[in-house]
Amino acid sequence: MQQTIKFPSGKVEYFFQSSFEELWEKYDRRNVVIITDDRVMGLYAEVFFGLKIVVLPTGEHSKDIDTIDRAAKELLRLEANRKAMLIGVGGGVVTDITGFLATVYMRGVAFGFVPTTLLAMADAAIGGKNGVNLGLNKNILGTFAHPEFVLYDSRFAATLPDSEWSNGFAEIIKYACIFDAAMFEELSKNNIGFYRNNASALWTLVERCVDWKNKTVLADEKETGVRKLLNFGHTAGHAIENLYELAHGEAVGIGMLIACTISEEVSGLNKNVTSELEKLLIQYHLPVHLNIDVEKTMELLRMDKKRSDDTIDYILLEQTGKAVIRPLPLTIIEKALHTYESYNRTR
Ligand code: ADP
Ligand code: ZN
Repeated sequence: MQQTIKFPSGKVEYFFQSSFEELWEKYDRRNVVIITDDRVMGLYAEVFFGLKIVVLPTGEHSKDIDTIDRAAKELLRLEANRKAMLIGVGGGVVTDITGFLATVYMRGVAFGFVPTTLLAMADAAIGGKNGVNLGLNKNILGTFAHPEFVLYDSRFAATLPDSEWSNGFAEIIKYACIFDAAMFEELSKNNIGFYRNNASALWTLVERCVDWKNKTVLADEKETGVRKLLNFGHTAGHAIENLYELAHGEAVGIGMLIACTISEEVSGLNKNVTSELEKLLIQYHLPVHLNIDVEKTMELLRMDKKRSDDTIDYILLEQTGKAVIRPLPLTIIEKALHTYESYNRTR
């Protein structure tokens, strides 16, 4: 199934329920350079046979400017020129690096994504934000640019470890919280095992997230308004992710709980919603407890991209499926972190 989404800055073809090999009906293999990581390479080497390839070290640690430097040198060595098309095959780290690299290499070459983790399929590969980290600060260097295509090949899901299923579900739960109460309900009735064994339910869910993300990005490509809603759980989430070496989904799960704690105070969220979210996170094997160092977390939050003067645009819930953006003084956030901390200690 194919779908074209036209953004003001470029169009993206979505190939759902597709297969990697279908790319060669559309693109010339000789111009293609695959960007992947060593784990995906180890698992799927036969898929890449005969193609030019740049293999990155796996993991969030490699999402930095050094990797861009090394990968760009590899591209030169492979004689990639302006006609090159970079295809990122991997999780969110690979798609972010590919997007960034493609927009700066020779002032920009074509690129596409084949997301291979649930997280990248449901979220990271969509929306045209490409970034790398600077020390502990997430996505500080980056670009806005859409891939030419995003191709979904279900074969890659077969090798995903349990932790990657949970990681992806954290973002799916995020979409349910901010936009889609019915999806929250559906997720509450099921679990990871159900979706692993029920391909049609899984892909329907993924496509629903893609749809929510594209609708939001279409309304606000450069994140000046509604797109900020997609950062639900990501403000505190990003601060604790690298500080505690959490997986992105784990950090976002805890970030969503912190945002709900603030929402109870600021946007009138019913406490039951926070409890339901906590239950849902546990159901999808995501952590809900973390002893956070409030000082260190606040230090990172002060460097958040969404901060202006003494407030941060924080995404809160009014109810399940209804999110709002509120500029919050740092003092309120600090108080909520203490509340979350003490709540943690009493459980
Ligand atoms: P994200 O979870 O944001 O998508 P990564 O790109 O770091 O982050 O991917 C997470 C991990 O999963 C990496 O170690 C990566 O090599 C691995 N991985 C990616 N795709 C697959 C796959 N289809 N099967 C098994 N492991 C995978
Ligand atoms: Zn995320």
